[in-house]
Amino acid sequence: MKLFFDRVALIGVGLIGGSLARGLKKHGLCNTICGYGRSTQELDKAVELGVIDSYGSSVKETVLGADLIIVAVPMSAFETVFSEISGGVTEQTLITDVGSAKASVIDAAKKAFGHLPEGLVPGHPIAGTEKSGVEASFDSLFDNRRVILTPTENSAESAVDQVKQMWQKVGAEVVLMTPDHHDQVLAATSHLPHVLAFSLVETLGKMHESSEIFRYAAGGFKDFTRIASSDPTMWRDICLNNKTAILSVLKKFERHLKTLELAIEAQDEKAINDIFVRAKMARDENVID
Ligand code: NAP
Repeated sequence: MKLFFDRVALIGVGLIGGSLARGLKKHGLCNTICGYGRSTQELDKAVELGVIDSYGSSVKETVLGADLIIVAVPMSAFETVFSEISGGVTEQTLITDVGSAKASVIDAAKKAFGHLPEGLVPGHPIAGTEKSGVEASFDSLFDNRRVILTPTENSAESAVDQVKQMWQKVGAEVVLMTPDHHDQVLAATSHLPHVLAFSLVETLGKMHESSEIFRYAAGGFKDFTRIASSDPTMWRDICLNNKTAILSVLKKFERHLKTLELAIEAQDEKAINDIFVRAKMARDENVID
């Protein structure tokens, strides 16, 4: 089956949506892309950059006649966007998204459509940078990166197949998961590290002598806190939309941190060393830089 979309509707033309649009164009996967966002200035920029060909004045107008709809807006906007999409599509229209938490996207779709359409295949690319907006987008963002698809109980097999192929053609490796499993895995591997980075920088920032502390910030601090430069609104939304899984892993982390704190307090050389050795082994064996 040749994968080609005549008209793609892209709701949210920022870092992720813009990068996917660039990828679709680079690999010749579509005829035209019509975008939608709230700022016409940003949309004009997106047309100038060749990321989209045109833009609509509403979500409803943008999705009319589209054979693929991509939702790439902040998590807080999903329900409104799905509601506006629902009036202009058929049961089979292919709809996918890039939201960072999946159970809440599926809940938003259920509320907006009244059921889960056959053409809806939720997804999440595990790729990004700490920048946002269309100017930060680039066509190789998804090269060799993983994309997790979380089909619903109603997603048609052919729809899942098409969305899978689309991501593969723009360079990604696709894996399938249930929405809940996705949310637990991402809470541990992405959401918790961001929460910790924001919290650490906030803690240090509040310390009396913070300006001096930041002046002496070296490699370790910079490596650990780079992600605290990410978009605060996006991460606020992720915390609100993946609350249960984030709290569960955060509580586990707090217990482990307490164990380390007690070991340091007790000057327990062996306990401290064991924790650090196990952590180093786990990272060296499992994480590729
Ligand atoms: P972004 O660069 O800020 O882009 C978001 C886009 O959505 C902007 O163009 C914004 O334009 C538009 N938008 C905001 N509110 C809207 C609304 N109510 N209706 C229509 N358009 C709206 O953000 P991003 O990093 O691409 O993130 C987009 C989605 O991808 C989020 O759901 C995020 O969770 C997910 N994600 C992000 C990353 C990452 O690392 N950045 C990775 C994976 C997944 P206007 O402000 O002009 O409306």
